[in-house]
Amino acid sequence: MKRSEFWIKTSKSEQSEAEEPSKNARLLTKAGYVDRQMAGVYAYLPIGFRVLEKIKQVVREEMNAVGGGELVMSSLQPRDLWESTGRWDNEAVDVWFKSKLKDDTEVGLAWSHEEPILETIGRQATSYRDLPISVYQFQTKLRNELRAKSGVMRGREFIMKDMYSMHASIEDLNAYYERVKQAYVKIYDRLGLGDDTFVTFASGGAFTRFSHEFQTLCDAGEDWLYLDREKSIAVNEEVLEEAAQELGLDKSKLEKVRSAEVGNIFNFGADKADEMKVEFTKEDGTKQPIFLGSYGVGITRVMGVLAEKLSDNHGLVWPESVAPFQVYLVGIGEQGEKAAAELYTDFIQASIEVLWDDRDGKHARVGEKLADADLLGITYRIVVSDKTLEQGKVELKPRLGEPKLVTSSEALAELS
Ligand code: ATP
Ligand code: MG
Repeated sequence: MKRSEFWIKTSKSEQSEAEEPSKNARLLTKAGYVDRQMAGVYAYLPIGFRVLEKIKQVVREEMNAVGGGELVMSSLQPRDLWESTGRWDNEAVDVWFKSKLKDDTEVGLAWSHEEPILETIGRQATSYRDLPISVYQFQTKLRNELRAKSGVMRGREFIMKDMYSMHASIEDLNAYYERVKQAYVKIYDRLGLGDDTFVTFASGGAFTRFSHEFQTLCDAGEDWLYLDREKSIAVNEEVLEEAAQELGLDKSKLEKVRSAEVGNIFNFGADKADEMKVEFTKEDGTKQPIFLGSYGVGITRVMGVLAEKLSDNHGLVWPESVAPFQVYLVGIGEQGEKAAAELYTDFIQASIEVLWDDRDGKHARVGEKLADADLLGITYRIVVSDKTLEQGKVELKPRLGEPKLVTSSEALAELS
């Protein structure tokens, strides 16, 4: 992309803490990734959208690898569906946005999809021969959250990946649950959060004693984690007593740390389908409610956590797997700009994702371009100037590393 054509508006100054209490939102706003529409509601601008798509792609590949079929459910949901499980009027679900059709029919705005998925896909699977099934989506969830002070980490509107698996037996569900747990470990590794993300025992799980959360160490997180580093076991505050006992953990040795829940997995057993009467016919001809697992990843929250954790004084520092572009290209001087134009074409041909800052001197000075390369957090920066060209080279600099002079073909090889 050429900067002159691709819309990015960066700012020199950051909002005050009074204007925007959350660091991730201040930084992402300054760098032109997001725009706050109202408390807890953000628009993802073109460069922010690219990061979201990168995160989604990592998640998509791992969900496809465990046999998930991607679909997209609706945002408007009928009331009846949620009444069957008692979750329409329920104190435990205090995040509903509800509305009415012209004829006064009540509808809910999607905050989750367990009930709609079971009704739609579970109801189609009438026989044991149809099972197992696994489907997932990336969807904008709407939740009337009480507090929204964590920037994109807690939105009233946010993107979630939610996968649901349906099985003919609890053994099959349990085995699949373990497979998805491993897929999640891979996801957070690939997103650059592997070292700081812990599979955490949490409350819930209709069939199993615990559910599992994926918690990333993060000062801006809203959760507390109790960590046994030696055993690499983490326990959520809610289930501390119970889990410590069950897992034989010495409570005095547990480290209490701030964390953000970046995902979770949940084993419903047959409870949900039992409530909804979503049954299939077993091999022996009898009826059985479907066994359900549900698996979430907070896509926009991951973006916020990355912004919180990996930034420095100059701006964002994306892991290569999610950076909006691989390289930020700047030409300085007449010859430098000409060489940058050629390099740009070479990069495009080599399928390297390049953002070429081709703005002229009226629109941006060299210093501003270099500052933007850092602020945007793009993995590499290449500067071509009359000076580097004298040596037949370009300057290649990793976002956090030292610059070095290389030939264009060496740069091409390094980025390919
Ligand atoms: P939390 O305890 O943080 O409210 P939750 O238990 O409500 O999370 P789920 O309903 O299971 O979360 O949603 C799945 C994932 O979606 C969470 O693990 C989290 O990463 C993300 N998520 C949940 N609520 C929000 C929100 N308001 N904004 C952004 N991401 C969210
Ligand atoms: Mg919640």
